[in-house]
Amino acid sequence: MVELDGSQGEGGGQILRTSLALSVATGQPLAIEKIRAGRAKPGLMRQHLACVNAAAEISGAKVEGAELGSQSLSFAPGPVRAGEYRFSISSAGSCMLVLQTVLPPLLLAGAASRVHLSGGTHNPMAPPFHFLERAFAPLVRRLGADLQLTLRRCGFYPAGGGEVEATIVPAAGALQPFDLMARGEHRSSHAECLAPGLPRHVPTRELDTLGGAMGWSGEQLRFGTARQNEGPGNALLATLAYEHVTEVFTAFGEKSLSAEQVAHGLVKELREFQKSEAAVGPHLADQLALLLALAAWQGKKACAFTCSDVTQHTRTNCAVIERFLPVRFAIVESRQICTVRVSPA
Ligand code: AMP
Repeated sequence: MVELDGSQGEGGGQILRTSLALSVATGQPLAIEKIRAGRAKPGLMRQHLACVNAAAEISGAKVEGAELGSQSLSFAPGPVRAGEYRFSISSAGSCMLVLQTVLPPLLLAGAASRVHLSGGTHNPMAPPFHFLERAFAPLVRRLGADLQLTLRRCGFYPAGGGEVEATIVPAAGALQPFDLMARGEHRSSHAECLAPGLPRHVPTRELDTLGGAMGWSGEQLRFGTARQNEGPGNALLATLAYEHVTEVFTAFGEKSLSAEQVAHGLVKELREFQKSEAAVGPHLADQLALLLALAAWQGKKACAFTCSDVTQHTRTNCAVIERFLPVRFAIVESRQICTVRVSPA
């Protein structure tokens, strides 16, 4: 039994998702207290409950404490079962975070799985669909496994209703560890604005402001074509493709922000990434840490990556991973480039 304090480090939902994922992947029961104690509304919200239920469904787990607002949970998984699953979040909570929970164990299952997800696809404080498709999924493929993602419909806060299909194919043998120390040569950059429910001047101003600040020309600035369910929503995405990695940065529109402020927020993130020579940005870092830890464990070989910043999120994720897997992280930080190495213990 792994006993965890959900208030440790960053104190958010990532502790719950990583521990559910690794409890199912390793078959170790989990008891977690003080869930999301570091958040304004602590305990299980609808989207966290959806993650618990999804993890339970793929593993036939026995669960206690799976209720809205609950701050403690005990979770005893059975063996992970590949298959066809449907996970839906009735609110606009991110269904991409449900995928983040079930993906690691399904990558280790005995056969391929197809997962139909509905809910939010582009939410603040969650990996947007395009980030998972362009930045994260190629790294899953480098492990020798496969992740194919299809966006059927966008879902934004507050309406939700987005739809995504994920096909998850485990590696033929053990996951293959790899190093990602440099991003390599720059290949291309472009931005797109998803705002189908909003007047045309909003995406136009966001793209013009971003293009002006980054020196990007007309064909690098695109109006998104993805279908949206209902209600207004607005995500401004920048995709930077390099020889060894693609990064996706996203800013979200809000009623209190002008289109120009949304674009400037994204420009700041892009400049911080471009200033560093690291392979990946801060969000991809915390998600890659889990993938490489699984590969180091299965492939019995150390591997490493560089990132522009090691956030509290990444540190907390590494600490939780070490509780489940026989691996050790070593993090070396400097202002321009940080290195995260994970080795079999
Ligand atoms: P938490 O805040 O603990 O619920 O965790 C949020 C998760 O979403 C972490 O894995 C973050 O790396 C990820 N995330 C948040 N914002 C973004 C973003 N803009 N792009 C990619 N991933 C993100």
